[in-house]
Parts: sequence; structure tokens; C-alpha cells
Amino acid sequence: MLDQNIAFIGLGNMGGPMAINIHRAGYAVTAYDLSTDALNKMVDEGVGTAESALAATENADVVISMLPASNHVETLYLGENGLLNKLKPNTLLIDCSTISPTSAQKIADAAHARNLLMIDAPVSGGVSGAQKAGLTFIVGGEKKTVKRADPVLRTMGKNIFHMGPAGAGQVAKLCNNMALGVIMATTAEAIALGVAHGLDPKILSDMIAVSTGRSWATEICNPWPNVIPNAPASNGYQGGFGNDLMLKDLGLAIEAAIDVRATVSLGELARNLYAMNSLAGRGSLDFSSVVQLMLASSESPA
Ligand code: NAD
Repeated sequence: MLDQNIAFIGLGNMGGPMAINIHRAGYAVTAYDLSTDALNKMVDEGVGTAESALAATENADVVISMLPASNHVETLYLGENGLLNKLKPNTLLIDCSTISPTSAQKIADAAHARNLLMIDAPVSGGVSGAQKAGLTFIVGGEKKTVKRADPVLRTMGKNIFHMGPAGAGQVAKLCNNMALGVIMATTAEAIALGVAHGLDPKILSDMIAVSTGRSWATEICNPWPNVIPNAPASNGYQGGFGNDLMLKDLGLAIEAAIDVRATVSLGELARNLYAMNSLAGRGSLDFSSVVQLMLASSESPA
């Protein structure tokens, strides 16, 4: 199999299940994370591990990164000790993290200058999509590189959208997440409004789910506890997509808007809501916990 040896860096809520799915598809995966717990989960699944990012990439044909933010990805790849200075020519780099488009372009340019191939391939589909190998990949880079990445991406996801050159995947991902952030916030407001009027949150959500206000935020990741059994809201807002990751993505969307003088009025409003939710101590909880801002303390659902 071409590109048999895969190094996977960043084994969090998303990266962990993604690495396991590549392993299950028959590739030789060597995984690395700063967290020992994350590495132990890989060992339990029979996935190979390494003691550093560099050690993980020793025999790699492909390096996949799934890290929190731009600074983590830049530190991994750039600088004197960055991976770009260590990898063999023609290695394929796939960054699946959500980071700034300019950062993605900068890293891809540096990779190409060292005869490495790179795409930005942020994902949509959440933790359940990562676990079920049902992610959507939103890709930026050269066509031939996207084609080479296709077999390994298909072990983790179903849909691959090639949006344009390096950085275009990140721009498209930020567009999606800005819409998601706004939709979650307004869904939370709508359900809180109904409950304040005495409505049952489950019946209200069931009605919205087959009406024109329907969305992923109502049907899959409903912000009200015990409406959707597997949603983070029904599990103390644990797991899922962290409030502070949404806050980061909305900040990146606003930066991208500034670059082209676009208006993102609702995106800016939503960023403030997730910032307030973070200041209220819910930064590490799922972003649907933003519903807590919309409640008087006596109505708290949690
Ligand atoms: P996470 O915080 O659960 O995981 C990040 C992992 O990276 C952690 O295990 C951390 O220990 C590790 N890490 C940090 N710095 C490292 C380094 N230098 N070397 C090795 N490991 C390092 O985050 P996540 O939810 O898995 O999200 C990862 C990326 O995917 C983010 O950019 C996020 O915006 C994006 N994303 C998340 C979701 C979601 O639903 N969680 C959905 C789509 C996209």
C-alpha cells in the first residue's frame, strides 16, 4: 500500500478516534500526544505510540496533525526544531486542525520549499463523526496532493470537499463554524424562551426538528439536558466541541472577515456570547453550554 506509514500527532477528542480508524483500516500508525492518558488509549487499541513527535515521524510517508490552534501547529512544523526540517522529501503532510488560513498558507509554503507536500484538511462532523469515520474533510492545497491524500482521508471520513489552494480549506471551515456558532446560540435562546413559558424542552425540540428552525444544534447536539441522550448536554456538557474552541474559531472568522472587509455582524455577536460563557467558567465544556447564559439561575437545567 502506498503511504503505509502514518504518523499521527494530537490524540484528543477528535484525533484519538481518527488515529484508531486509520489503524483499523490496516495502516501502520505511530501516534504521539503530550498527554500520557491519550497515549494509553492508543496502546489499548493496538495503535503504535512514540515518545516525541519527531520519533513518531521517523518512518512516516504521511504526517497527520490534529492540534488545538495555530500556535501548536506552527510550533510542530516550523522553526529550527520543527518537523519540516526533519522529514524526508515527498512526505505528505495533512493538518486537520482548525487554524488561521494565513498560518496554514505559511506552513504549506515552508513545506513546499523543502520538497514536502501539504494540505490543510480541517474537519466537520464532531466527535461522533470522528468515532464513526463519518467526517467531512474541507481541503485546501494542490489537486495532485489532495488526490494522494484521498485513500487515507477516506479511512476517517465520507465527504471530501476540495475548496481551492492552501488555506482555502480553513476559510471554508471557518464559514461553517461561524454559521454553527450562531445557530447554536439562537437554538439555545429559542429553547430557553419556550421553557420560560412553560413548554417541555423535548416536545419543543421534536417540533423544531421537523419544522423550519431545524438544525444539527436541535437534532444532534441539543443544548438542553436530556433532550438528546447522547448529546454533551445530557452528560454535564463533557466531550464534544469545547466552548473555547468555538471561541477560537469565531475569532479566526472575524480576522478573516477583516482581511477582506466583510461584515460578520452575527458572528461577532456570537463570539461575545461564547467569550461570556468562557468567563463564566465553562470554557472547557461543550459549546452548547452557552444555553446557561440564557437562563435565570432558578431555571438552570443542569
Ligand atoms: P482536544 O483539546 O481534545 O485535543 C487536542 C490534543 O492535542 C490534546 O490531546 C493535547 O494534549 C494535544 N496536544 C497539544 N499540543 C500538542 C503538541 N505540541 N504535541 C502533541 N500533542 C499536543 O481538541 P479536539 O477537540 O480534538 O480538537 C482538535 C482540533 O480539531 C481543533 O483545532 C478543533 O478546533 C478542531 N475540531 C474539533 C471538533 C470537535 O468536535 N471537538 C470538531 C471539528 C474540528
